[in-house]
Amino acid sequence: MLNENELERYANQLIMPEIEEEGQSILLKSKVLIIGAGGLGNPTAIFCSAAGIGCIDICDDDNIELSNLNRQIAFSVNNLGLSKSIKLKDYCLNLNPDLKINSIVNRFDNKFPISTYDIILDCSDNIETKYTANLLAHKNRKTLISASAIQLEGQLATFKSGKFKDLPCYECIFPKDQYQNTNMNCREVGIIGPVTNLISSLQVTETIRELFIQNSFKKENLFTTNTLAGNLLLYDCIKQDITKIKIKKNLSCNVCK
Ligand SMILES: [Zn+2]
Repeated sequence: MLNENELERYANQLIMPEIEEEGQSILLKSKVLIIGAGGLGNPTAIFCSAAGIGCIDICDDDNIELSNLNRQIAFSVNNLGLSKSIKLKDYCLNLNPDLKINSIVNRFDNKFPISTYDIILDCSDNIETKYTANLLAHKNRKTLISASAIQLEGQLATFKSGKFKDLPCYECIFPKDQYQNTNMNCREVGIIGPVTNLISSLQVTETIRELFIQNSFKKENLFTTNTLAGNLLLYDCIKQDITKIKIKKNLSCNVCK
């Protein structure tokens, strides 16, 4: 299934009983969309590329600024003023040239075609984009893995409300009427790179898990039976604590009721 080069590159992954050669082949055949090429999008795209997720689209219309470099680890001072999605794509292709990695220099909006992706990875830093990603993922029955990080805290959740009607969507736990005006971005309140990197690492772990689940791969294995869907993972850097809390469907949710 895998060629000589792939067997060597991914040797440390496919040696594990949770992955093996078949799991690696699934990753290589998969296609993900990364929304946002900032503090979360950088490490998420890098880890997806390193793990060998075969097709990765990176959507962001922003340009690189000096104040991004405390956390956006694919960029350097030579990249200031250049497109984030293009430079992140270049970095990832340099790491793993055999993958199909595309940059989409556009703002993600409700007209974005998401039907061809296996998984949507929300790495955006604003709640409006998160609502749009949630709505499109729900309508198109896509798995959405949504990450957030601000100051010394991070969050991660997997949403599959379009596939399973009992599971909540993003808006079930963050209703628009309560959260729409609470939008804060990193420029206003701050962020440190290790927090975004940690949340991104967890996001890519869940991406690998959900790709295996979608492909009915190793259905009996603990790695694939433990989906994060129906839970919210909270990281608190001040207390150095990760908590997993159960989240429920809001029966009057505007998106998934
Ligand atoms: Zn909902």
